[in-house]
Amino acid sequence: MKTIITGLLPEEISAELALPQKYRGKQIFKWIHSGALSFDEMTDLPVKLREELAENTMLFSSGISREVIDSDGTAKVTLKLYDGHFVEAVLLEDERGRKTACISSQAGCAMGCTFCRTGTMGLIRNLDPGEIVEQYILLSNKYGKISNIVFMGMGEPLANLENVRKSIEIFHHPEGPHIGLRKITISTCGLVEGIDDLVQHGPLVKLAVSLVSADEETRERIMPVTLKNSLDHLKRALKRYQEKTNRRFTLEYVLLGGINDRRIDAEKVRHFIGNLKAVVNVIPWNPAEGLPYKEPGEETTAAFTERLEELRVPVTRRYRRGRGINGACGQLAVFENSTDPSDSGR
Ligand code: SF4
Repeated sequence: MKTIITGLLPEEISAELALPQKYRGKQIFKWIHSGALSFDEMTDLPVKLREELAENTMLFSSGISREVIDSDGTAKVTLKLYDGHFVEAVLLEDERGRKTACISSQAGCAMGCTFCRTGTMGLIRNLDPGEIVEQYILLSNKYGKISNIVFMGMGEPLANLENVRKSIEIFHHPEGPHIGLRKITISTCGLVEGIDDLVQHGPLVKLAVSLVSADEETRERIMPVTLKNSLDHLKRALKRYQEKTNRRFTLEYVLLGGINDRRIDAEKVRHFIGNLKAVVNVIPWNPAEGLPYKEPGEETTAAFTERLEELRVPVTRRYRRGRGINGACGQLAVFENSTDPSDSGR
């Protein structure tokens, strides 16, 4: 496989394509990020160069193979990668029309969180920076300007940190999408080493952590990552991140019926937070076929949220978007032989 040029910075494009004039790399970079789908459209490049590039260089390594739109407007696209594997990305739009791309960092995931469909796939492979960037480009070409990016699709971003870091450099680049670091969120299941790597080397984006349970034993059972990244270590890493950024975290709390939805569970969350600045995002579990959980009822969800509020924990409740298309939290997965119409098909 050749280098994927959508994952390169302007000067790297010049070097990779051996362009005689260095500024051509910047022109190509700008075109890629302003919607050009082919070299032919890059009208400020000499015709001969365009022809040569079109003949010898692949502009995009992936393409949309399927698109489904939920009744709430959430769009899920399946991208076919150059080697035939698939990943999914989701476009969410809020009431104010602000668009957020929820993108994948890996095909599959090795973390094995037991409530998550992606976790049942295992890890297929890391995505190249260009494959990450292309999700954003293809979504914005299709649905218009996207202002926010969340790494909450398939995969654990901190387990593919170098490539995620490079993609963020491109998202943040003034000649590219130019998205502020405060508008980019990495969501992790709690890899302490990765959080510390961000503390040391950046980028200092917003961080969301899938907490799911603040009880060590329960969390070990639900999220095997806890076995090597205890809650205590996780909390200390979050403190280090907060000392550096002074930014509030989001703690994602997928509420699993009968598992982590009692008053005592809310109290443990309070204890875990201590003096961290954090908001808890309560997400009633989205049913996913084959996973051994049940949805918490409306009443249970309300009672859990209220208990957190009583304990003075800042809390939000995520509106369930994309459920009808398996595009909601924890529902992304591509089973390549699936007959389920809401799984990505070909
Ligand atoms: S929740 Fe995230 S980290 Fe856990 S298995 Fe799913 S994709 Fe991987």
